[in-house]
Amino acid sequence: MGVSVAEEWLHSCSGCEIAILNIGEALIDVLGLIDFVHIPVLMDHKYYGQLGDGKEIEIPEAVVGIVSGGVANEEHLEVLEVMRRQCKILIALGTCATHGGIPGLLNSWGMEKGVENAYTTSTTDDCQVPADIVPKQLDRVYALDEKVKVDLILPGCPPNPRLIAEVIMALVEGRDPVLPGKSVCDACPTKRQGKGDVKSVSRFLHNAKYDPDKPLNEMRCLLEQGLLCMGPVTAAGCARENGPSCISARVPCRGCFGPVRKDGNQMLDMMNALASNGIDFTSVVDRRSLLRFSGAHGLLRPVATRKATEE
Ligand code: SF4
Ligand code: SF4
Ligand code: SF4
Repeated sequence: MGVSVAEEWLHSCSGCEIAILNIGEALIDVLGLIDFVHIPVLMDHKYYGQLGDGKEIEIPEAVVGIVSGGVANEEHLEVLEVMRRQCKILIALGTCATHGGIPGLLNSWGMEKGVENAYTTSTTDDCQVPADIVPKQLDRVYALDEKVKVDLILPGCPPNPRLIAEVIMALVEGRDPVLPGKSVCDACPTKRQGKGDVKSVSRFLHNAKYDPDKPLNEMRCLLEQGLLCMGPVTAAGCARENGPSCISARVPCRGCFGPVRKDGNQMLDMMNALASNGIDFTSVVDRRSLLRFSGAHGLLRPVATRKATEE
């Protein structure tokens, strides 16, 4: 009998669950050591009993609970609270769960206005915001640790399958997982030539300058090239053999692993990083977009309620 694991997804796109499957061959070893007792993405499980006659959400007890997605409505909250009660160790998987993720962008408007925008501006059809049957929305999008105690966070959008396997194996073996603790820059082999010759950053639409026939360590750091690379303020974790995922594709880091420190603020940290590189931070067109993956914890708020200093 292996270690029991329960997995749940809240406002998740299922990319985190695909990352679990993407553990690849090592998944065969992992599955030999654990028993999934609950994982709706793979196994049919009715919350209120197989006949639907239960009165409370039923999730079996487990040693390890893994939850992806953040909390945006009353059903998410209820499921999360049951997971917390039923699981000894609770892991927040993916940046939605750890920092709000992309759905946390709704916090720029507040939930009601944000959902209304989504339904009325993304189509030419006359769409109504659904009001019946769907669970009641909360006032904003929350990360898991704003609602319950979380024992371990594993950010990433999606998280790195290798690190998911490491966390599960560490829990099975009763040791602390070995996780990268620094920033994306620390795993980046690009060439730093020194700051000073770039005074502003350009929009993401601009391409990096590099020679496609030369390796990544021959390309100049993208921030030094004047591209808004969030490597300095983003947690490490995505790196493969030849460097961070996006940088190895010659594209700036967009910040998808969330802040380096769990309670960091990628917008303020990036302003500091730009200033310390001699770059005018007012050249960033939309500073709040730096929180595109980490808008929970009250960091992204509707414009009317934000202080003038944040604009
Ligand atoms: S963190 Fe990314 S991959 Fe995971 S549920 Fe959120 S959007 Fe999907
Ligand atoms: S700023 Fe970007 S390109 Fe430069 S070292 Fe950091 S991650 Fe690499
Ligand atoms: S380079 Fe940045 S945006 Fe790209 S995968 Fe890594 S953390 Fe995410």
